[in-house]
Amino acid sequence: MEPSMWIDVTPDRFNYSLEHFVIPDHYEHDLESILIPNGLIMDRIEKLARMIVEATEGSLVVFCVLKGGHQFFADLISYMKKCVNKQGRNVPLTLEFIKVKSYVNDQSTGDVKISMSDEELAEFKGKDLLIVEDIIDTGNTMVRLLNRLQEIEPSSIRVTSLLLKKTPKSCGYIPEYVGFAIPDAFVVGYALDYNEHFRDLDHICVINENGKEKYAV
Ligand code: 5GP
Repeated sequence: MEPSMWIDVTPDRFNYSLEHFVIPDHYEHDLESILIPNGLIMDRIEKLARMIVEATEGSLVVFCVLKGGHQFFADLISYMKKCVNKQGRNVPLTLEFIKVKSYVNDQSTGDVKISMSDEELAEFKGKDLLIVEDIIDTGNTMVRLLNRLQEIEPSSIRVTSLLLKKTPKSCGYIPEYVGFAIPDAFVVGYALDYNEHFRDLDHICVINENGKEKYAV
């Protein structure tokens, strides 16, 4: 994927002031800035949906990676249902939900703990899969999930991530469809959480030190 295939919001000018948009009162002291306003998120997802559907022939199994991916998944599906592929047809969609956890202390085997049994996964053999993720940071979790899914021999696997963090810790993995490239900061909102808080914030924002302290566990 060419770098021009995503919107780069790493330059400083994308840090919108909190005063320029509406944010819930209960978060007004906990955020540094607004990185991606909700309207821009929605417009970008509409375009991702169109690109994915246009490149799809036949039906698609769409996997929501929980929990952070649920909002992106819901909005993406809603736009995909309105799109048609190159043959002018709607793409039949099957929706699946999966919880994914990396084995942090077992990196050498590349294992990933997923909430589906081998039996359940075997159902997707020969199918076209789309994985929907909220954010790729180092990329390790996604690489391990993909390795696991390849074992069941699907017909194809593509990944869309709303956000791709530009970080020196990246393993180099880049999904097929990316919404935005973001700076190496901790972001919250649009279902991305900090210890389960901020999922009820519509914009993607950078958390400040006060927010980190307030919601630390
Ligand atoms: P990776 O394996 O790519 O390093 O980690 C991916 C996971 O880390 C994401 O699915 C997400 O749960 C979490 N994560 C990484 N960066 C952020 C961030 O800036 N904000 C939030 N809320 N979660 C993050």
